[in-house]
Amino acid sequence: MSTLAFIERPSPNFDARARVIDLVVLHYTGMQDAEIALARLTDPAPVAGAYPGPWQSESAPADAPLGRVSTHYVVGEAGEIWRVVDEEERAWHAGVSSWEGEGDVNSRAIGIEIVNGGHDFGLPDFPDAQIDAVIALVRDILARRGLDASRVIAHSDIAPERKLDPGEKFPWKRLADAGASIWPASVPVATRAGEDVVGRVQAQLKRLGYSLEQSGAMDAPTRAALMAFQRRFRPTLIDGLIDEETQALLAGLALKQRTLNSPQFDGGF
Ligand SMILES: [Zn+2]
Repeated sequence: MSTLAFIERPSPNFDARARVIDLVVLHYTGMQDAEIALARLTDPAPVAGAYPGPWQSESAPADAPLGRVSTHYVVGEAGEIWRVVDEEERAWHAGVSSWEGEGDVNSRAIGIEIVNGGHDFGLPDFPDAQIDAVIALVRDILARRGLDASRVIAHSDIAPERKLDPGEKFPWKRLADAGASIWPASVPVATRAGEDVVGRVQAQLKRLGYSLEQSGAMDAPTRAALMAFQRRFRPTLIDGLIDEETQALLAGLALKQRTLNSPQFDGGF
């Protein structure tokens, strides 16, 4: 039924899923261009010297092995879509990560790598044609898999202390307007005297899916999860602090989540 056109670019880097698919994880490639990213995602024996970048120390030997990685799809700047690993297989894009308390995100996720230099290459804008293609691909996956728009998340959501992608320039609101993600209304929160605000925020982040220990303290993982949340929903200020606007957006998303989970909701967007 799909009307999407794919360019086949198969990778040998995959294995078998251990679980049913219920997530779509969006990434940026963070490399110089599409061809270099595709080479890396399909390389069965990558070495450091083949993929130079600002992340590499000059003393690193050129033959130092890199981890094998892959993805299901790569979306180029002109809107072209490469199919790299079959959706039924487990691609290797999530790395060390966790969502809803589960560590093996690769087993449950479809990975989409969006060609963009990212933070290492000047954080370029995402062209409209590319975002249109991402939206079409995500909507197609959600419809085929019977998933709602809340199942589309960022690599930075599942690895907040390690990853920034697809980055604060990624237009999540545009995706949400097209039914390919969610976007919160702002619901102002009145803090009660003596309330454990950090505890409340940690509980809200956990309900959204962030794998976060409920420590009640403003620790490094909490700050990182808040920054991941802000990177998606309040990209103008990503400081990991609990301000009024961040609390209002968390409350708005909690409200949306209740609507999505309600039996009256027909699942349409
Ligand atoms: Zn990523």
